[in-house]
Amino acid sequence: MKAADIRQTFLRFFESKGHKIVASSPVVPGDDPTLLFTNAGMNQFKDVFLGFDKRAYSRATTSQKCIRAGGKHNDLDNVGYTARHHTFFEMLGNFSFGDYFKHDAIQYAWELLTKHFHLPAEKLWVTVYAEDDEAYEIWNKVVGVPAERIVRIGDNKGGRYMSDNFWMMGDTGPCGPCTEIFYDHGPDVAGGPPGSANEDGDRYIEIWNNVFMQFNRTEDGVMHKLPKPSVDTGMGLERLAAVLQHVHSNYEIDLFVALLAAAKAAVDGAGAQDCDKDSASLKVIADHIRACSFTVVDGVIPGNEGRGYVLRRIARRAIRHGYKLGARAPFFHKIVAELVAQMGEAYPELRQAEARVTEVLKQEEERFFQTIANGMEILDAALAEMAKTGNTVFDGETAFKLHDTYGFPVDLTADVCRERDVTVDQAGFDAAMTRQREQARAAGKFKMAQGLEYSGAPTAFHGYEHLQYERSTITAVYVD
Ligand code: ATP
Ligand code: MG
Ligand code: MG
Ligand code: MG
Repeated sequence: MKAADIRQTFLRFFESKGHKIVASSPVVPGDDPTLLFTNAGMNQFKDVFLGFDKRAYSRATTSQKCIRAGGKHNDLDNVGYTARHHTFFEMLGNFSFGDYFKHDAIQYAWELLTKHFHLPAEKLWVTVYAEDDEAYEIWNKVVGVPAERIVRIGDNKGGRYMSDNFWMMGDTGPCGPCTEIFYDHGPDVAGGPPGSANEDGDRYIEIWNNVFMQFNRTEDGVMHKLPKPSVDTGMGLERLAAVLQHVHSNYEIDLFVALLAAAKAAVDGAGAQDCDKDSASLKVIADHIRACSFTVVDGVIPGNEGRGYVLRRIARRAIRHGYKLGARAPFFHKIVAELVAQMGEAYPELRQAEARVTEVLKQEEERFFQTIANGMEILDAALAEMAKTGNTVFDGETAFKLHDTYGFPVDLTADVCRERDVTVDQAGFDAAMTRQREQARAAGKFKMAQGLEYSGAPTAFHGYEHLQYERSTITAVYVD
């Protein structure tokens, strides 16, 4: 079953259960300052859950474009390292706005997976929120999942495991206990069952989360009961496709096979010598072209602050991976055509914006290719020197110079360093940034005092503010 058919089957199934098929909302949330990018299907229904907004329907189903490259849900660092994480992915969801609750949600999920997608029941594991006896009983007594494959998981207060069966959209907003469904890819793959100490492998893959929306968390940390208990679910289309196409990694599904081939052709066409088709770098590129293209579709352009800076960071990271494979000229924008071929039917806005997306990415590449060779030379030389002395912490001053002079976002430098088991001295980087900001401020004041035109601080400073935000939330990767 192709990804496109899986999407259709999901939506039609829930339509047959009285759900209204609603279009995906943009990846840039229209009116939610708490969110950098849309990170889940429920985002567009946030106010409906909160009781501020009413719809003509009480059940909905969507295939939502999501980006998790910043804020509470940030998977940027996972891409290329796990078989299951993307920066951009499609989340299939069904929603009940004060209509059905646990019983129906669980039974719909089971019926769809086992009767329509024909997944073998014995390969499915479920987790429930530790104290949620009701959900446990429904799985065990009504659906018939044996106790050995039902795991109770708390809200990860101790932070020991990745798993967390209390779902939150962000630090504020609708939230609640959840039950999740995992698929066992079999003993050939490393990793333990959910809740075990080695659960972070790729053997037992989380495919579907069913959240029982019951609270609104406000800034003071207080949980307020929602007007009506509701349901919000999310299943990663790419992960389900991997299961249904009998492959283990998301990167082996039809859509990614096509994108990887296009990425290889583009990189080879830009000077690489028949690059390794299985390299992690190619996967990063195939992943990042989706996040970059869909953010440009929604009006973001690469820049030095906020969303524009996230886009720039993702694009430059992809370009650096192409460079690593041997590309010496712009290649990234050339993959847009294949992306449109793969996803333009489901998301017509992508097809419509094809020329613009291609042009925006091409310009960003041309800009970055002017400095990447010099920057990489400095980076490589520093790393070679470090290897000699056994130093594994990359100097913050050099990381700052790479950022300031060569346009290397610090996470790009960290990405290169990570390949050689080196970490970046973030505190040193921050100190260099602060010093430069203060110098620029003083210079600005000086100019104003002289009655000269104030030119404003260099734009890179906004990027810094943004990065700080990123860092303060990056630990959340391990607790969501
Ligand atoms: P994981 O633990 O694997 O990081 P999650 O618990 O953070 O996933 P949820 O917030 O529960 O994910 O999102 C619902 C579903 O969306 C997941 O069950 C998964 O199928 C899918 N999903 C989540 N993050 C990603 C991602 N980065 N790439 C692809 N699919 C994802
Ligand atoms: Mg999870
Ligand atoms: Mg989850
Ligand atoms: Mg996650």
